[in-house]
Amino acid sequence: MALLEAHDIDARYGDVRAVTDVSLTLDQGELLALVGANGAGKSTLLRVLAGAHRPFSGTVAYQGEDVTRLRDFERNRRGICLVPEGRRLFASLTVRENLLVGGGSQRSGRWDLGTVTDALPVLAPLLDRNASQLSGGQQQAVAIGRALMSNPEVLLLDEVSLGLAPIVIDELYASLAPVRETGLGIVLVEQDLERTLAVADRIVCMLEGEAVLAGTPATLTHEQITDAYFGHAIALHGGTGDDAAAAGSGGGRW
Ligand code: ATP
Repeated sequence: MALLEAHDIDARYGDVRAVTDVSLTLDQGELLALVGANGAGKSTLLRVLAGAHRPFSGTVAYQGEDVTRLRDFERNRRGICLVPEGRRLFASLTVRENLLVGGGSQRSGRWDLGTVTDALPVLAPLLDRNASQLSGGQQQAVAIGRALMSNPEVLLLDEVSLGLAPIVIDELYASLAPVRETGLGIVLVEQDLERTLAVADRIVCMLEGEAVLAGTPATLTHEQITDAYFGHAIALHGGTGDDAAAAGSGGGRW
């Protein structure tokens, strides 16, 4: 049984179809990366998985339970946690207080203030600082730490590196490595393709709301991915790899 399963997700904003007929699975301990151009539907799909956006149709199952109708805070209590694009910290609270808000899910587990600051050492000297005084990289570390405080089984990371300097991004990804070793499943939206290929177990490429290509970094070529990214025909009509062929016309399940 997959940790998280989405079936035939269709998500809209009024008449705008943001996600069309996307199915995917996430296993325990797996890092699944969603890639695609701006507006491809990645953030919307993450929000559907998190319960922050109700899909027009389709289902989301978590640990075998249909959670489609559960709101974000209810899914959070069960172990699904979204780190949204833009971090959304409480600016008037300290880092410590922001982290403790994350612990509000009341889920027990390995993560508490001590283990989170061990995993994200950049946070330790900042605990009493106001969140509004932090750099972008520090804020992102708080956002990830806050998510860990809820002891998630599934972490949904939306563009964690957006607007950060390369060296800060390196540090963030380095700190994610031991987090991954704890066995939680991660769905990552990341603009940097090279970095994605370096960290992902599996990749799903989205184009105009559809999942058009999927596979592992070892089985997909750069050409296949960039073609899928920019919408060239190869992704939609089958590349040379098995995964590309399996992707079909976007309704495939990976
Ligand atoms: P980005 O990298 O720019 O965040 P994305 O791949 O995450 O892109 P989404 O943000 O999910 O894509 O957007 C998918 C589609 O839904 C786009 O056409 C976008 O304009 C539209 N969309 C997203 N949010 C809203 C909204 N709040 N209201 C209306 N349309 C929206």
